[in-house]
Amino acid sequence: MFEVVIGLEVHVQLNTKTKLFCSCPTSFNHKQNTNTCPTCLALPGALPVFNKEVLHKSIMFGTAIDATINKTSYFDRKSYFYPDSPSAYQITQLYTPVVEHGKLRIDFEDGSHKVIRINRAHIEADAGKNIHDGDISKVDLNRAGTPLLEIVSEPDMRNGDEAVLYLKKLHAIVRYLDISDANMQEGSFRCDVNVSIRPKGDANLYTRVEIKNINSFKFIQKAIEVEVARQVEAWEDGVYDEEIVQETRLYDANKNETRSMRGKEEAADYRYFPEPDLLKVVATDAMLATYSKIPELPDEKMQRYVDEYGVSKYHASVITSDVEMAKYFEDMMAEGISAKNGVSWLLVELQGRLKGESDLTNTHVDAKKLATLVKRIEDGTISGKAAKQVLDKLVEENLDVDGVIDALGVKQVNDTGAIEAICDEIIAANQDKVAEYQGGKEKLFGFFVGQVMKASKGSANPQTVNEILKQKLG
Ligand code: ADP
Ligand code: MG
Ligand code: ZN
Repeated sequence: MFEVVIGLEVHVQLNTKTKLFCSCPTSFNHKQNTNTCPTCLALPGALPVFNKEVLHKSIMFGTAIDATINKTSYFDRKSYFYPDSPSAYQITQLYTPVVEHGKLRIDFEDGSHKVIRINRAHIEADAGKNIHDGDISKVDLNRAGTPLLEIVSEPDMRNGDEAVLYLKKLHAIVRYLDISDANMQEGSFRCDVNVSIRPKGDANLYTRVEIKNINSFKFIQKAIEVEVARQVEAWEDGVYDEEIVQETRLYDANKNETRSMRGKEEAADYRYFPEPDLLKVVATDAMLATYSKIPELPDEKMQRYVDEYGVSKYHASVITSDVEMAKYFEDMMAEGISAKNGVSWLLVELQGRLKGESDLTNTHVDAKKLATLVKRIEDGTISGKAAKQVLDKLVEENLDVDGVIDALGVKQVNDTGAIEAICDEIIAANQDKVAEYQGGKEKLFGFFVGQVMKASKGSANPQTVNEILKQKLG
């Protein structure tokens, strides 16, 4: 029997306005090679100047994972040649990173949890991009010099589920801190997965394979599955030593397999040495005090929803997994609706209707609108059923809640006099049934309610109808 060992390296692109060592903007969606300057183009003689905002965001992250913040950290030079890196080296932090020894909690569905240790988080500069276009390859350096925080876990995860839970939690945390857009498709949250296996009970670490840049949680899970299967098979066939070597592999989602990309470099290949063009990074006490101020994080928020709103732990964890959703929910609650309705209209009704293009940040239905709709149910203006029709319209077009209620004519009749008149009519027209009901056939009550609802074209408040009929039928 085998045990799976997984360690993750995540490159988070920090959302600072300017690059790590120059004042070029970090918005690289501009025309190619326009957000560049002598420093990020690595022209001879240009010197880097450290962007303090990067230290701020790194310390926020270190605080969030309860890590040691090194008041003094250093930059190192990692040498390698690649066309998208004109300096032929990367500035990173090898020996003394800004953040060390943190931890992150993952929660399982059965209510248990596990703490994953984070070895370090260090600052480094991103490379540019190679663009392959038929026979031609081009280099775009807009991204060169963008600040990255590389977050390296200990090899503490034992299966794909744990790896994905870790990544989702990490993703949520950087979004809560607002230190990164963390968009996996756009590459501002990139993950390398290190995988090895070992006989159960063996504490040694065996040869790891690094799978690079997988851009969705689903594919990460699948890549781990196929890579583990490959390693187990090699072991069982007695060819583990020959076939499983320390290397970088890529995951091909179409074929659902991992393939060798290149042999893994050893640290010595990079000729690391302290970066001579930069001073040490010092966080003063004043900076530490300011930079370690962070907002409420997912775990605390989840507990607060349970305690304060009486939301189930499961629903609280779904809502808090995404900072936008948490904000939406809190904005709804600020309108004074019940938490139970808030949860179901957000998670079931609205989420169920938002497909494809739109999500909570670009739907017509903002939190205030959805809360207003819920209020109209709570105060008896419309039925829950009618509210679903109203929401259908609100999702389609930017309309006003009360306007749609009027246009659809779904307002409930709460006017007791009007409902009473209908009840009288129905009773008069069904004297035989009244006799049966009064003779003990209680099931007929539903018939009367149905007739009254039908006569009112569904607009009568069912609760009022029930009350009036009970009273009239005795
Ligand atoms: P490198 O930059 O060479 O990939 P790092 O130290 O930055 O090295 O990252 C190594 C990653 O691999 C860490 O996340 C670590 O937990 C993980 N790791 C180390 N050994 C193993 C192993 N035997 N099996 C799985 N993961 C491992
Ligand atoms: Mg690595
Ligand atoms: Zn620049």
